[in-house]
Amino acid sequence: MIAATLHADQLIPQFDATSLDSPAQTVPHEPGWQQLLADAVTDPRELCTLLELDPDLVLPAIAAAKDFALRVPRSYVARMRKRDPNDPLLLQVLPIAAELQVTEGFVSDPVGDMNRRAAQGLLHKYQGRALLVATGACAVHCRYCFRRHFPYAEESALQQGWQPALEHLRADPTISEVILSGGDPWSLSDRRLKQLTDGLQSIPHIRRLRIHTRYPIVLPERVDLGLLEWLHGVPLQKVVVIHANHAREIDEAVRQACRRLTGAGVTLLNQGVLLAGINDSVAALVELSEALFETHVLPYYLHVLDKVQGAAHFDLPEARALELHRELTARLPGYLVPKLVREVAGAPSKTAVVGAVD
Ligand SMILES: *Cc1c(COP(=O)(O)O)cnc(C)c1O
Ligand code: SF4
Repeated sequence: MIAATLHADQLIPQFDATSLDSPAQTVPHEPGWQQLLADAVTDPRELCTLLELDPDLVLPAIAAAKDFALRVPRSYVARMRKRDPNDPLLLQVLPIAAELQVTEGFVSDPVGDMNRRAAQGLLHKYQGRALLVATGACAVHCRYCFRRHFPYAEESALQQGWQPALEHLRADPTISEVILSGGDPWSLSDRRLKQLTDGLQSIPHIRRLRIHTRYPIVLPERVDLGLLEWLHGVPLQKVVVIHANHAREIDEAVRQACRRLTGAGVTLLNQGVLLAGINDSVAALVELSEALFETHVLPYYLHVLDKVQGAAHFDLPEARALELHRELTARLPGYLVPKLVREVAGAPSKTAVVGAVD
């Protein structure tokens, strides 16, 4: 197994994917990522059965999933421990009763993104960078996501064939980096992605393409030859910011996907969210940084939770977040310490968490 893996990986960088009619030809018996995506677990009953969990979890899960559906790829479920209701991967995706509680200060659009629309699906909040909502779809539904109440499907730039977004980008020479976000931009087909990057490439002041995606973590099969071929063909500097919150999310398939991305000339960064019950210990955060680095990914941001309705049970007191971050700083080389940040509506950048400002 290991030898075969190494062999396949070594082939990737010099592999001429353009000689293939279809990437599927190389792995004729394995389902493609779209199939795996369609096959994700969406029924709380099934998730509880697969993991041999207490059936009492099912009804609350069904109730909470009405608001924001359960969705989790099977290969991610396979990384969870059976019979463990506190598994750090499970807690990220299982709907629970606490989501239905209304908590003061937790709102539906905590980031205030709606006010920063520069064109259909384009948010221009920070100097030099514009964020393009490429699609509303994600491979996984993370229960703490600040987008859980957001009408992203209607907001995506694809809706109008990218044109209004591309026109805004073309007209503003101060923008040098375009960030594809969502939703998850890699939910789009390679063909759609290429349409977009063909448009971006024709704008001389765009130098960098950044992609915010959870696919390499939750459905690493997405990083297939078609995707690599597309990336190889984009002449911009490429940064992919993945989203892992726990070292146990990173298995051999994830490492392989990351190696392929690095092989395609991509710089890999990680952004995580500090989540009560999931990664709120120094040990968990140290392990995460180390596991990322073994995979050639540098920790970039550790976000404190956006105060979105239904996610209050993941929140930590700010003093605890700071204490964890200070200990992390003491324990790790500087390059393995992510910046602890929060999103402040109207601020010119992500805001470092430095003391009590609440
Ligand atoms: C987070 C974010 C960015 C990127 O910020 P960086 O600090 O460059 O990572 C850009 N635009 C928007 C709207 C964002 O929310
Ligand atoms: S993948 Fe990202 S955008 Fe999608 S639900 Fe998870 S955190 Fe939210």
